[in-house]
Order: sequence, then structure tokens, then C-alpha cells
Amino acid sequence: MSAVSRRLQTLLEEVAVEQFDGQVVVEPIEGYQILTRRRLVDPLPGVRAAAVLRAAARRVLVDAVEAARAAGRSWDEVGEALGLPDTDEPVGEVAFALVVEGREPERAREMFRVPSASWRCGACGELVRDQGPFESHPADVESGHAADCTRHLADVQAWRERTGWEE
Ligand SMILES: [Zn+2]
Repeated sequence: MSAVSRRLQTLLEEVAVEQFDGQVVVEPIEGYQILTRRRLVDPLPGVRAAAVLRAAARRVLVDAVEAARAAGRSWDEVGEALGLPDTDEPVGEVAFALVVEGREPERAREMFRVPSASWRCGACGELVRDQGPFESHPADVESGHAADCTRHLADVQAWRERTGWEE
């Protein structure tokens, strides 16, 4: 994690606690005597805090770019400073679309790569690949749970009851 990310993580925790009643626990890391890990008891106040930080970061970006334009810098220079990818569209136009319209630069979709999030399951401890809420059967949505994972088995059971199907 970069130094900026660490500072943001600290800020996120503060916002989660101050604005969204988040609670922090400090727990030992398994296998270590001294090392501890801080985490929010309920991660959702953290998500709310992250949304606040993202909106604030967006405001910071707009302010910085307007200051650059006020100082006589061109949109092309702004685009270069933003590190925008080289595309067919002029970098200054891409910068304007991003900063003013909030439109992310077009990225070529990577073939063969299914977008996914990954996290360690709180029930079985395995690393899970999460492809989002697009499919119905839990096994199509999350892969990596242990075969006897209680959370996953409960999801499958709920799916059976919901759909009336077996597998
Ligand atoms: Zn699991």
C-alpha cells in the first residue's frame, strides 16, 4: 500500500467513525505477537466513508485543473499531467471529458478477462473471486469457497428455496 493510500485509509476510518457511527476493532494478526490489524466492525460505514472521500477527491481534481487553466495551461497539458492514455481522441478533449463531464476515458475491453472483485471469506477463510450480482446460482457468482463453507452452503440453500431448483 502506498503512503497516500495509507493516509487515505486512516482518513476513511475517521470519516466512517465520525459521520457513519463506524466502530473500529484492533485485533491480533494470527501467528504474530506484536502485529495487530485495525478494521471496521461493520464494513458498510467504510463504504459510505469511501463515497465521501471519492466525492471530495473529485472536487480536489476539478479545483486543481481549474487552477491550471487559470494559470494559462492548456487542456493538452492538463491531460498529460493527468497521465491520460494515448488514444485517437486528442488528450485535451479526453481531459475535459474526464474532469468536466466525469466521463472516464474509453478503455479497450480486455478480451478473455472477466471483471471480478476478490476478498477473503469470513466463514471459510479462502480467497473468493466475486463476479458480481449478475448470475443466479451462487457458484456462478463466487468461486473459491471451501467445499464445506457455511456461508456458501447457506447461499446455495437459499438459492434452492428461492428457485425451487436443485442444481
Ligand atoms: Zn467461504
